[in-house]
Amino acid sequence: MKKRVLISKCLLECCYRYDGKDVKLEDLKEKLKDFEIIAVCPEVEFLNLPVPRPRLKFVPVENQIRLIKEDDKRDLTEELRRKSREFIKSIGKVDCAILKSKSPSCGVGDAKVYRCLECEDELGRRDGIFTEELIKLFPNIPVLSEKEFLKMN
Ligand code: SF4
Repeated sequence: MKKRVLISKCLLECCYRYDGKDVKLEDLKEKLKDFEIIAVCPEVEFLNLPVPRPRLKFVPVENQIRLIKEDDKRDLTEELRRKSREFIKSIGKVDCAILKSKSPSCGVGDAKVYRCLECEDELGRRDGIFTEELIKLFPNIPVLSEKEFLKMN
């Protein structure tokens, strides 16, 4: 039976990113030909956001880091967390994940936390919400950013 890999969909197909940029990796499908691929874009598929779309930013709100949509200041933290968890539970066991770096949904330890919604100053870095839920449900699988994956391949 093939091993199963969970992937940020923007790494496989154009175009899912908030700014509409194509960030797919040309030979990723070839590199993963021995795996069963499960691809998902949490922001488009779980939050029904369009491409392009306003940025989502991690910012402190009342002593908590929250995920806020830049244009209308909607707090999407819980919705994205809940839908991520539901999706991850629904797909069954995966063996590893390759997720898009720096994304507030898919980032692996490198999603930027901003000092405020209106500024670009950095407070720190953290996992994206989808990544965080994945690691909670599958604490023992390798979860790599595409940069880490490319270094190894
Ligand atoms: S990083 Fe994740 S949420 Fe952002 S476009 Fe890619 S798959 Fe979608």
